[in-house]
Amino acid sequence: MVSQAVTAAGARPGAQPEPIPIPPRAGAAPGPGAGGPRDRREAPLPVPPRICSGRGGAVLRQHQIIHRDAPQRSPAMAGKKVLIVYAHQEPKSFNGALLKIAVEELTKQGCSVTVSDLYAMQFEPRATRNDIVGHLHNSEAFNYGVETWEAYKRGGLSKDLVEEQKKVQEADLLIFQFPLFWFNMPAILKGWMDRVLVQGFAYDLSKAYDGGLLQDKLSLFSFTTGGGQEMYSKGSISGDIRYILWPMQHGIMHFCGVKVLEPHICYAPENVSEEKRKEMLAAWTQRLKNLWKEEPIDCSPDWYFK
Ligand code: FAD
Ligand code: ZN
Repeated sequence: MVSQAVTAAGARPGAQPEPIPIPPRAGAAPGPGAGGPRDRREAPLPVPPRICSGRGGAVLRQHQIIHRDAPQRSPAMAGKKVLIVYAHQEPKSFNGALLKIAVEELTKQGCSVTVSDLYAMQFEPRATRNDIVGHLHNSEAFNYGVETWEAYKRGGLSKDLVEEQKKVQEADLLIFQFPLFWFNMPAILKGWMDRVLVQGFAYDLSKAYDGGLLQDKLSLFSFTTGGGQEMYSKGSISGDIRYILWPMQHGIMHFCGVKVLEPHICYAPENVSEEKRKEMLAAWTQRLKNLWKEEPIDCSPDWYFK
């Protein structure tokens, strides 16, 4: 039996700045919009057959996961490791219901499920100097991208980041579960992306997109909206929902080498009938049952904008 607790973010060690000479900046622009490496290949991304082994199972209790043997394990999925990064304040929310379903269904399949419940963890979303333990590479002019990259290389990132990176490293699949906020993910989840996916860990100079450092992983954005589906179709006032997915799926996950499964979108759960909500929850369960057979999308500009 494996036991794994997902707890509040650890205390973040204090800073001990040391004045050092200004180093040369070795092209350290993080991210695709800031001079990151070019998208090298945009061909369909094949998924190798995923044969699972091992044991596991999880029951969600608040933000703690207790793993135990799963009685209804399917050999095709057993042993897969799933990290769900969850951003909703309220367990009784529709997002909370979607999270619960994912934990239960994937556990039933024999997957090992870990949840980062960001609000419950009081996850720090701000990218600051506190993320670096000990001396700065350049204490004269703070550059978050350079400093976290240098800190990563010397093992000097704060404990909460190291813990999240470990969960990412171990995962075969990353599921992001959240309500849409201003055509985007909630700030706490964006902060997770900003702080966890640092250069050297998730991507590096010339190691991005299909060459990104987090290869052999899948990702899935599962979210809810306030607006109905008709609001998010091409030519509508809000535009195609895929425009919103471009920065998340392509700009972050694909950039880091992670393959992308079709998003899972529950439109307007607040404005539909109870029956429709139950249908949406059942559809999520059903999708999860066949998830490991899915092929990733062709995450190229055409998928989003054609
Ligand atoms: P909830 O309100 O928690 O749930 C909806 C209903 O489902 C409730 O009645 C709840 O009781 C019920 N429910 C819960 N569990 C179950 C269950 N097991 N079975 C059946 N029913 C259940 N929307 C947009 O479209 N675009 C935007 O840009 C946007 N920006 C936003 C920005 C901000 C800052 C905020 C606060 C909201 C924004 N919204 C936007 C709206 C937001 O996306 C929705 O309010 C959210 O997605 C709804 O999801 P929820 O989980 O919070 O719903
Ligand atoms: Zn892409």
